[in-house]
Amino acid sequence: MANLLIIGAGGVGRVATFKAAMNLDSFEKISLASRTKSKCDAIANDIEKKLGVKIDTYQVDADNVDETAQLITKVGADIVLNVALPYQDLTIMDACVKAGAHYVDTANYEHPDEAKFEYKLQWAKDDDFKKAHLMALLGSGFDPGVTNVFIAYANQYLFDEIHYVDILDCNAGDHGYPFATNFNPEINIREITQKGKYWEEGKWIEVEPMSIKMDWEYPKVGTYPSYLLYHEELESLVKNIPHLKRIRFFMTFSDKYLKHLEVLQNVGMTNIEPIEVCDGCKISPMEFLKKVLPDPASLGERTKGQTNIGCVIEGIKNGHKRKVYIYQICDHQCAYRETGAQCVSYTTGVPAMIGAKMIADKKWFAEGVHNMEEFDAKPFLDELNKQGLPWEMIELNTQKG
Ligand code: NDP
Repeated sequence: MANLLIIGAGGVGRVATFKAAMNLDSFEKISLASRTKSKCDAIANDIEKKLGVKIDTYQVDADNVDETAQLITKVGADIVLNVALPYQDLTIMDACVKAGAHYVDTANYEHPDEAKFEYKLQWAKDDDFKKAHLMALLGSGFDPGVTNVFIAYANQYLFDEIHYVDILDCNAGDHGYPFATNFNPEINIREITQKGKYWEEGKWIEVEPMSIKMDWEYPKVGTYPSYLLYHEELESLVKNIPHLKRIRFFMTFSDKYLKHLEVLQNVGMTNIEPIEVCDGCKISPMEFLKKVLPDPASLGERTKGQTNIGCVIEGIKNGHKRKVYIYQICDHQCAYRETGAQCVSYTTGVPAMIGAKMIADKKWFAEGVHNMEEFDAKPFLDELNKQGLPWEMIELNTQKG
């Protein structure tokens, strides 16, 4: 049984806290802290009303290592689940080392002033965690997260060698707004306006944003235009999955979404450099845009439809070619009824809680800083089925598309 501190009271924090409250066999005490305490209180009230479980709430500035370490000590947390923003990863990791708590997150570190995400600075904390006999589990959301575990499962149980992987992320939900992002707008737009990048034959290949497109049939959800993006799990999977020849990531976007994004980019609204808008008052256009777009946490009630995120994995088993598709379908309205959040928060918050549960239940443990694919995939996949994200697998023919 562990004492869990969740940091970040957005859509993902809401789901992770709800789900932790449904797993009291793993978590004896649950606390929720964020920059704005009233957001923690609103989530805690909903959980108390719906599940009768009490969540302690706190205000914290997770950019401040000492303040965060003091909070970890005050609540006596064994595990900290970071579902604030990627900007806080390094400070929360340092606070965990200082206060003696294991660390779990869902997104890799990004500097607020540079739209570039990579694991380098988080992996560099491996020695700190080892010396403190602590574990950090990076990227325990859906993608990264469940996608890494699907590929780990294929590597550990289904294939002798994996050669090709395509990660395919479809959100076929509709919230009825002309333009809104399904999670933090700043993080989302920064991710998709970057150059696309994939890995082939030992090299990274960079392409212009949204320049590689294919129509992909997502089982039980439909055929949608899907665009190649660089996504953070590629970095760790290339390192940890042997024999890979190529790995790519695709995500669906509607024409309407891309048109709005193009206009916003053309007029400079996605820039992250602060500009002076009145005497001595500076704000980046992106920060301003975030303020005027619908809050992702408010989309839950309006969003209808499903998501389908999965991996097509191709390789060799017993000398024969094999190709499988492992995926998970989540329904926006079911997620909303259970937790008050739509699928993008749900599919991230559930695996975030499961990552913490794997450590609490001692099913996954290794000192140092680790990615999801480094552990036995089965216990995690069993939990996905139990915790509201049942997954499916189909065999495909071995003709490479
Ligand atoms: P939100 O923006 O809705 O929520 C983030 C929360 O973090 C807010 O409550 C915010 O506080 C809080 N926060 C921000 N800065 C600080 C700080 N310095 N100290 C304390 N709290 C802070 O984001 P989401 O819930 O949509 O996403 C959460 C995380 O999940 C992000 O890192 C995102 O990248 C990741 N994610 C991962 C996915 C995956 O599949 N792996 C998919 C989707 C998201 P305030 O309310 O005051 O602003």
